[in-house]
Amino acid sequence: MSDSANPGGWLELAVQCDMEAVEPVAELFARYGYNEGVVIEEPFTQDGDGDNLKVDPSRPVMVRTFLAVADAKPEDIESVRQALWYLGRMRHVGDLAVTTRQEEDWANAWKSHYSVHRIGNKTTVKAPWHEYEPAEGEVVIELDPGMAFGTGLHPTTRLCLTMLEDYLKPGQTVIDVGTGSGVLAIAAVMHGAASVDAVDIEPVAVRSTRENAARNGLEGRIAVEEGSVGPGEPFQGEYDLVLANIIARILIDLRDGLVAAVKPGGTLVLSGVIEPREPAVLDAFDAAGLNLVNRDQIEDWIALVYHKPA
Ligand code: SAH
Repeated sequence: MSDSANPGGWLELAVQCDMEAVEPVAELFARYGYNEGVVIEEPFTQDGDGDNLKVDPSRPVMVRTFLAVADAKPEDIESVRQALWYLGRMRHVGDLAVTTRQEEDWANAWKSHYSVHRIGNKTTVKAPWHEYEPAEGEVVIELDPGMAFGTGLHPTTRLCLTMLEDYLKPGQTVIDVGTGSGVLAIAAVMHGAASVDAVDIEPVAVRSTRENAARNGLEGRIAVEEGSVGPGEPFQGEYDLVLANIIARILIDLRDGLVAAVKPGGTLVLSGVIEPREPAVLDAFDAAGLNLVNRDQIEDWIALVYHKPA
């Protein structure tokens, strides 16, 4: 694995801004950043039981990009500074921090949130600006860490992905409920699904999944719609494999729709269940006539795999 293709070191540009300023700042950074890469670090809040994971709009967002030192012209940095100053007259935009990073610093600074990550047993996620040589049989997903949840790093995503690797057979049909960045839907196609449908109630997730599908050359292989599962929702079919990485409360709310989406003989993977809520999820899905066939845990997070009797 090479951490980057740039031997000359990097300039990191970083600025804190409020939520309304994120898009214009990210657009500005993308114009100058290496391979148009931008990272948006949003402050999250979450209840003690893992419920209500959401962005906290009251705290500032950090936006970063990296320029290869060899390409970084002083007048470009000046242009960025000036553009930020204009934006700062309408929104809250902090001062631009410019930091030189040696290769190791840069690699380390990014390891914690986004660079190249093995997220399953044979699936790796990488940022667009990284070079990576896959091992044989390994699948590499290129994801731009945009505004939607799902860089592949969260334990719930890793759990769901490992189950996908274990249960998906080539040629099967899949639906990914709560697709976020589309990471699981993309992985499903790359691991041999015949067709993949994906839904999310957030428009930003639908957009981001479409972009990420295209980025991986999979447009036309994943159908993405805004919505969920259940009556009146975009997809009414039955699938060999249903993936839902959301949270316990919503999984329980969506139970009937999720169960109806599984073909007889098919598999349902539930992820996003925080430990104290596991009994409630087990109760709900046992009562729906499914058989629990697998369970795995990373930290406080649990994934459950159910089989629907044929
Ligand atoms: N599948 C991705 C993202 C999981 S985050 C991954 O595994 O990394 C959960 C996603 O579910 C969020 O994008 C959220 O918008 C979406 N979501 C929340 N409630 C939903 C519902 N009722 N129906 C469909 N999607 C929902």
